[in-house]
Amino acid sequence: MEDLKKAVLRFRDERDWGQFHNAKDLALSLNLEAAELLENFQWKTSEEASETKMEEIKQEVADVMMYLLLFCDRLDIDLEEAVRSKLLINDKKYPVDKSFGNKTKYTEL
Ligand SMILES: [Mg+2]
Repeated sequence: MEDLKKAVLRFRDERDWGQFHNAKDLALSLNLEAAELLENFQWKTSEEASETKMEEIKQEVADVMMYLLLFCDRLDIDLEEAVRSKLLINDKKYPVDKSFGNKTKYTEL
């Protein structure tokens, strides 16, 4: 994760783009890239999209991850720690004994 983050920050810094990367525009860009990912599934089943659009899907996944890393860097968020903390929260919301094989939202469990 740290090597990946360094590579993304190097790419940004070689172009002096950090000056444009405020939190609002990075959050906006992250969402736009997520929408581009979603676009690959429009009017298709999941299977059709993965059979015909895998290269595009991979590229959009990469765009989402790069913006997420840039966003976290800008706000000094330790992404790994944030994910681990949220997993603990989700583990309480969705205990295995109530959630196993069950898609019900935690408010309804
Ligand atoms: Mg894109």
